[in-house]
Amino acid sequence: MLGRFLPKALSEPEQLTIAHAGDSLPITFLRSARARRVSLRVDPAKRRIVLTAPLRMSRGVALAFAQAQAGWIAARLKRLPSRQPFAADAELPLAGVSHRIRHRPEARGTVWVEGVEIHVAGKAEHLPRRLRDWLLAEARRRITPLALAKAETVERRVKRVSVRDQRARWGSCGPDGSLSFSWRLVLAPPEVLDYLVAHEVAHLVHMNHGPRFWALAERLCAGPMGPPQAWLKANGEKLLQYGA
Ligand SMILES: [Zn+2]
Repeated sequence: MLGRFLPKALSEPEQLTIAHAGDSLPITFLRSARARRVSLRVDPAKRRIVLTAPLRMSRGVALAFAQAQAGWIAARLKRLPSRQPFAADAELPLAGVSHRIRHRPEARGTVWVEGVEIHVAGKAEHLPRRLRDWLLAEARRRITPLALAKAETVERRVKRVSVRDQRARWGSCGPDGSLSFSWRLVLAPPEVLDYLVAHEVAHLVHMNHGPRFWALAERLCAGPMGPPQAWLKANGEKLLQYGA
């Protein structure tokens, strides 16, 4: 699978603020059984900074750590990509190409593409849901046949391909041979979608990230793996902001 798992939390996350330069900076405080030391990290999917402390650490020590890093927290909060809700005349990438969302209240039908515009019929209040449903179906239409074709070349059976609104990872491969992907891959350039599908299909054969896994993933990709990997690293977080 691809992406990072959040540390397993034992208690509900707690919302706190850290004072800094006359501002109060929001942070989320978690306790984790797996944490060995206190840490701060950015969670771009939920647009938040997370302070994670081991179970036994006192709250005061954890907060003092965050306080000492207030400058870093302020800088990282500023750098979080802004939300891009689905709205008339907003911009949305489709297969890596910027499109403009057009609301067509008088038109029949649901959603269709004309050049670099995505037209959405119906009432304004239904636009975000209609567009999201359409993007999900579009992602499914592009991902499913690709996954099945790649699985056939390695003679593995895919139990199911699901496309969902998952934010923690781009894709995953279950031990039963079911593959799951984030619908947001339909926003990324085609070679990125292709790489992610190749990556998860390679997990049908190797459930690890060892050298044999990477050799197979490379072979399953339509092109070299480097550029899509670099694209994801540089732009992946931005995709999480669309329709949020
Ligand atoms: Zn993986």
